[in-house]
Amino acid sequence: MIVVHTRSAVTEALAPHRAAGRRIALVPTMGGLHEGHLSLIDAARERADVVVLSLFVNPLQFGPGEDFDRYPRDLERDAALAGERGTDLLFAPSSAEMYPHGATGVYVTAPDLASHLCGAFRPGHFDGVLTVVAKLFHIAAPDVAVFGRKDFQQCVLIRRMAEDLDFGIEIVAAPIVRESDGLAMSSRNVYLSAAERADALRLSRGLRSAVDAFRAGQRDPAALVARVRDELHEGTVRAEYIELVDARTLEPVEHASPGDVLALAGWVGKTRLIDNVELKDR
Ligand code: AMP
Repeated sequence: MIVVHTRSAVTEALAPHRAAGRRIALVPTMGGLHEGHLSLIDAARERADVVVLSLFVNPLQFGPGEDFDRYPRDLERDAALAGERGTDLLFAPSSAEMYPHGATGVYVTAPDLASHLCGAFRPGHFDGVLTVVAKLFHIAAPDVAVFGRKDFQQCVLIRRMAEDLDFGIEIVAAPIVRESDGLAMSSRNVYLSAAERADALRLSRGLRSAVDAFRAGQRDPAALVARVRDELHEGTVRAEYIELVDARTLEPVEHASPGDVLALAGWVGKTRLIDNVELKDR
């Protein structure tokens, strides 16, 4: 695995692959790598000859008072994990390399899609995400880019950006990887105390309970959301939102159907976690 820190080094490292007509896949991450991220490397490898993983804690997508300063950063550990899993090129730029003119210039925005779910509580967050992903798309110019469904709204926004701005990049949304007890893997899980870790499980349990109710015939979104709330009720998790939405428009639905997504964000102590599940008939 080659590790580079500049945009020009990415271009240089990928030039021979491009010249040889090899397919290039990009996996954007903020590091703090776990099995969820590593599964994206596998998905990328299945679809391409060359796997590029970016590792950048993007200041643009953190709001004031959020966890930018304490976000896990360990390049050595992440590089070892990424390399072992089969990454060919690791791109770990500094903020100055990514934003040489500072972070106040030009943004990519999607005001409608970003007004829902997480976007309603994290103003500017998705402008930061779309802007950095657009830059990474230009820097690596991949054929395919792989994201995790764990960040469901992000997947919808990026797919839309790739289409609307004619990036010509295939966007893959890979399944959520969970701990054996059901908690969705997240770089932020390291913030949790043992007691909080136990309580955090209520998020995935609540979603599972709603899925069971849907399979048993419940089609009322409020009743499905109530199943999640019931699970959170006993513990210390504070729901920020729990919503059943159309998977394409992110608008709340009036009647639950297969393909709709039940998404939530919750606070466990000072840690904000997200999770979601797609409703299926069986
Ligand atoms: P992050 O480093 O949190 O920005 O995430 C980088 C990529 O990994 C995003 O596309 C996430 O959706 C994805 N990801 C994070 N956690 C998981 C997970 N538990 N399962 C699958 N993908 C994930």
